[in-house]
Amino acid sequence: MDSTHADVAVVGGGIIGSCTAFYLARSGADVLVLDPAPGTGASAGNAGMLVPSQSVPFANPATVGAWLGALARRDSFVTLRRPLSPGLVPWIAGSLFEARPWRASRTTRLLYHLARKSLRLYEELTEAEGIDLQLRATGSLRVFRSTAAFRRQHRMVRTLAKLGAECELLGPRALREAEPQLHPDLAGAIGFPHDRSLDPARATLAIADAARAYGARFRAETVVGARRANGRVHSVVTDRGTVTADWFVIAAGAASSRVGRFFGARLPVRPGYGVSVTYPADRPLLRHSVMLEEAHIVINSGPRSVRLTTGMEFGGTAGGEPPAGAGQRLDAAARSFVPTLPSRDTAGAPWRGGRPMTPSGIPRVGRIGENVIAATGHGTLGMTLGPVTGTLVSSLVTR
Ligand SMILES: Cc1cc2nc3c(=O)[nH]c(=O)nc-3n(C[C@H](O)[C@H](O)[C@H](O)COP(=O)(O)OP(=O)(O)OC[C@H]3O[C@@H](n4cnc5c(N)ncnc54)[C@H](O)[C@@H]3O)c2cc1C
Repeated sequence: MDSTHADVAVVGGGIIGSCTAFYLARSGADVLVLDPAPGTGASAGNAGMLVPSQSVPFANPATVGAWLGALARRDSFVTLRRPLSPGLVPWIAGSLFEARPWRASRTTRLLYHLARKSLRLYEELTEAEGIDLQLRATGSLRVFRSTAAFRRQHRMVRTLAKLGAECELLGPRALREAEPQLHPDLAGAIGFPHDRSLDPARATLAIADAARAYGARFRAETVVGARRANGRVHSVVTDRGTVTADWFVIAAGAASSRVGRFFGARLPVRPGYGVSVTYPADRPLLRHSVMLEEAHIVINSGPRSVRLTTGMEFGGTAGGEPPAGAGQRLDAAARSFVPTLPSRDTAGAPWRGGRPMTPSGIPRVGRIGENVIAATGHGTLGMTLGPVTGTLVSSLVTR
């Protein structure tokens, strides 16, 4: 069994662990990231949108109806799968509590400002650090089939506009001009020109490589326990040995609640599973990242692929397969909006990943013990919030 020392041991090498390792290593810390398969969790198969415009948290008044639908097993974008984990019911109650309008507005403001800052940091990583992130200035469109649903969202536009988000309303004709590949029979869209997009798996690995270039080490090890004495954690136990460190960071995504228990901490993080399907392409199919609002589908089309994502499923087993037929259903629903999607036969196998969800939608970033820092719970916005989280954790350690 190996024994190693580092200034900071980071548990988890997704976008959050990689950004954390990058900023810590850049500030001169000796960083060791422990992850059996870095960059293969939620950070791999997500929609790759960097979206301050999506700062309205999952816990908001509109989700209450979706939860009721899930509980009654009606058609709803939120679904429950058995077995329900022991803490899930109180977690759902907490999320409904956080969905009250004023709390959701407060969370929106916080997430929006963090997301804007993170986008600036992504640009700095590209321009000043030369990291090849292939950021795309796609902007994003929230597209509506029904005029009533489109009108209902005007309030959301006003809220985001008050926060400083630039957004525009596109009627049916303007939408056809903006996105000729979309079905012509749509009610309109809300456009957010400053949103960005990227290939999430590629970007996560590029940031991990940049962290390595500053001296961070990555080891393919699973953390299975932690040893504490006098109120401090002095080491973690992995499947290969022991790692001692001055600081420990929990960045284990949807597994953070389980990993937190090793450190004696309770982290209210539950996986909210989503599914994606990716098609090869030789040019971008759409000019923008597109959210099909009524279908709860996101389409991100890059220069080499088109990816569809959907779903918010709670419960079930960690690492389980996507529900049977998920790929076909997703393809059929998206095709009714974008008839020119690449052929279904070319699609890769459906992917399933867990978003690390907190009841409020506010990530848990901060000290949770004498020398333990949580950097988790980024929910639907983890790709967007990676760099800002990395700078926050780095300043907690170095100051
Ligand atoms: C379908 C879908 C679409 C999404 N779309 C977007 C989007 O467009 N924009 C956006 O901003 N966000 C999006 N998200 C959310 C985003 O993907 C997540 O918030 C983000 O990837 C979380 O990053 P992470 O590093 O915390 O977790 P992960 O990427 O899951 O990384 C956690 C890592 O911890 C490791 N780990 C776990 N347990 C242990 C252990 N015991 N020891 C060592 N390592 C361990 C795992 O191997 C994993 O690599 C989406 C998510 C999904 C599912």
